[in-house]
Amino acid sequence: MEVRLKQLTKIFTSKKAEPVYAVKEMDLAIPSGKLVGLLGPSGCGKSTTLYMIAGLHRPNEGRIFFGDSDVTDIPPENRGIGLVFQNYALYPHFSVRQNIMFPLENVKDYEDPKTGERRKYTKAEMEAIVFKTAKLVDIEMLLDRKPKQLSGGQQQRVAIARALAKSPRVLLLDEPLSNLDARLRLQTREEIKRIQRETGVTTIFVTHDQEEAMSISDFIVVMDHGVVQQVDEPQKVYDNPVNLFVAKFLGSPAINIVDGEIKAGVLYLQGKAFDQGYAHEGSVKVGIRPEHFTIDKKLPHQMDVSVSFVEHIGRDISFVGKMKDSTNNLRIIVSSELRDYAKEETVSFGIKRFFVFDAATGARLK
Ligand code: ADP
Ligand code: MG
Repeated sequence: MEVRLKQLTKIFTSKKAEPVYAVKEMDLAIPSGKLVGLLGPSGCGKSTTLYMIAGLHRPNEGRIFFGDSDVTDIPPENRGIGLVFQNYALYPHFSVRQNIMFPLENVKDYEDPKTGERRKYTKAEMEAIVFKTAKLVDIEMLLDRKPKQLSGGQQQRVAIARALAKSPRVLLLDEPLSNLDARLRLQTREEIKRIQRETGVTTIFVTHDQEEAMSISDFIVVMDHGVVQQVDEPQKVYDNPVNLFVAKFLGSPAINIVDGEIKAGVLYLQGKAFDQGYAHEGSVKVGIRPEHFTIDKKLPHQMDVSVSFVEHIGRDISFVGKMKDSTNNLRIIVSSELRDYAKEETVSFGIKRFFVFDAATGARLK
């Protein structure tokens, strides 16, 4: 099911505080059957967006479409969505089976496959769905347990199974991995990807963790202060950030940001001409990803770095240092074959790629 948001705006107002523009004029088209990661720092409007799609929040402006139908005025229970929260929200006194079955018990309009009549599920039909869904998320052997007898990862699988039981048109996941430890988080995110592939259900996955979003999403939507910054395949956003915010938000270790100045079309770093051909004048921020440094004297763009320390991290070496005659801290990652250079105090690095941003607006200039 394709999901489209048109000029969606949510403002929270209260008597005491200034109104909060949680989401501003958001336009987004989420293709049917894809997994989309909604990504941004805490408070940027991710959950608010998700809850508007779910029908739990009413937008102040804008419309929400599932396929061709406008669902903006339709209550959550009739939208055909499955919702999974960070804290699982399982019923503690119910068994796993009862938890997954619960939403099915309230269905009154199941279309009988033989007669076409609308009716409730029979007990046997519910049992079959529960088993099939539990098997999909790999918990069919845990159906008789209570939530407190499960690990965090297993509880989150139960929550996902419960959300999938009614065969939702859209699956919405709000930071579903945040309560899991690092190992389980990795495992469960791969599991979510697999489940999404197997079911083909259009899925919107909210997270503040860029690595999580990048690793499983077909598309990512990067948000800041309620405003969509960039929408694209994860690698494309990483390789081509539209602005300084996006460049800084993606990547671990983070991108290096160095102050520069453009005068008469020439970009100066460390007081030396670094690049040319600019229409812009004035202060800029130059972004260089740690892996875009190399030891290659032939490259046209060079930078002298005073190395403070060197970490050997298996396959790679990580240099930490400062740009010569500057306080800009840098992190540089090169292949460990270049370890001999690690002994030198000042290393001249060739720069394979860099981005240039307007220092005032953050807009990408190059
Ligand atoms: P995220 O999920 O990206 O962390 P949210 O969508 O929860 O962000 O919140 C976006 C902004 O809206 C924040 O500034 C938050 O404080 C505010 N906000 C969220 N929910 C409410 C609410 N029910 N009442 C008032 N302000 C809210
Ligand atoms: Mg949130």
